[in-house]
Amino acid sequence: MNPGEKRVCPGCGAPLQSEDKNLPGYLPIHAWEKEEAVCLRCFRIKHYNEAVQVDLREEDFLQVLHSIGSTEALVVHLVDLIDVNGTLLSGLHRFIGQNPFLLVGNKLDLLPQRVNLDRIRRWLLMMAMEWGLKPVDVMLISALKGSYLQELLEKLEAYRKGKNVYFIGATNVGKSTFMNRLLKEYGEKGTIEITTSRFPGTTLDLIEIPVDEHSSFYDTPGVMTPHQIIRYLSPEDLKKVIPQKRINPKVYQLEPEQTLFLGGMARIDFISGTPQSFIVYISNEIPVHRTKRSHAGELQEKHRGELLSPPGKENLDRLPPWVKHSFNLKEGEKQDIAISGLGWVSFSGKKGRVDVFAPKGVSVQIRKGMI
Ligand code: GDP
Repeated sequence: MNPGEKRVCPGCGAPLQSEDKNLPGYLPIHAWEKEEAVCLRCFRIKHYNEAVQVDLREEDFLQVLHSIGSTEALVVHLVDLIDVNGTLLSGLHRFIGQNPFLLVGNKLDLLPQRVNLDRIRRWLLMMAMEWGLKPVDVMLISALKGSYLQELLEKLEAYRKGKNVYFIGATNVGKSTFMNRLLKEYGEKGTIEITTSRFPGTTLDLIEIPVDEHSSFYDTPGVMTPHQIIRYLSPEDLKKVIPQKRINPKVYQLEPEQTLFLGGMARIDFISGTPQSFIVYISNEIPVHRTKRSHAGELQEKHRGELLSPPGKENLDRLPPWVKHSFNLKEGEKQDIAISGLGWVSFSGKKGRVDVFAPKGVSVQIRKGMI
């Protein structure tokens, strides 16, 4: 094999090249001889669990989607149950045309053990409908633990009716982890492995997995959605912010004029209303600090990057400046305030006014209570 020959990285699907280290698919010249050589980036991720930044262009992704619209196929849209607001792709129907799509909520294993699955499924469907999406079905899985994968495969077979299947999702929803599971089921063992890592933007080009003589599964690139906080974090901070273990909700009984800091990534001020619980669903590795609202500014000034972390001191300037989002909590309705990529705070239906400060560009939204 020679440099310049058309070959793709078996890890991420990017065309291999030896010209530019900073572009996808870089393979040093001496490595071309190896049959199974993966690109530098996949190599680093696999062997050192280390991210190599490669820009993922949204235009490329949209092109892939357009081509789906002109063929008959089933689309599987994967979302992260910990970040539904940040990972639902509202423009999906525009690109996939008349094709049916199956909505799959991943990372079920991170939710508290005793959640009502049926309720979460209905909730996810409702969220999708609010986003203008009409899935043919909704499923919940854990790609990491392998939960409900068999059921999902059965549904896939029923809905695809012999056609191709395209898998679509924002970066970090766990699509690589999921595809690797599928490969074990469908692929010839050991011939191809998609790279998986916790770093955003891992899956690059379209990867084909033939499933029978007439049809294939296609893994599309991860879409970098602009509103996830993980875009602004260093690899070390990402390890803490992306939950790896089941989330232990933390309950704070708050009076008006009190504040919660979620690490150094967001600040939540209880401005007014009935004293109530703030239930925080974020990675267990992010410390939560409670203080008086009148002290919050000073605390933030003094302890950013230390007591209030992640991000650590050396990575503070990666975060855009904070902006304020104000919300009114409704009486008698369970609601969440979701901060994309971080998690959410849930409220049990008592009146109140809450201000959330989060880095500019990160989506902060109020929604019907998930749990
Ligand atoms: P991709 O960017 O969508 O391809 O996402 P990856 O497969 O690389 O996964 C991103 C992060 O989420 C990694 O840290 C994975 O270990 C983690 N992850 C993926 N699926 C699951 C899951 O089902 N449960 C949990 N807890 N973590 C998951």
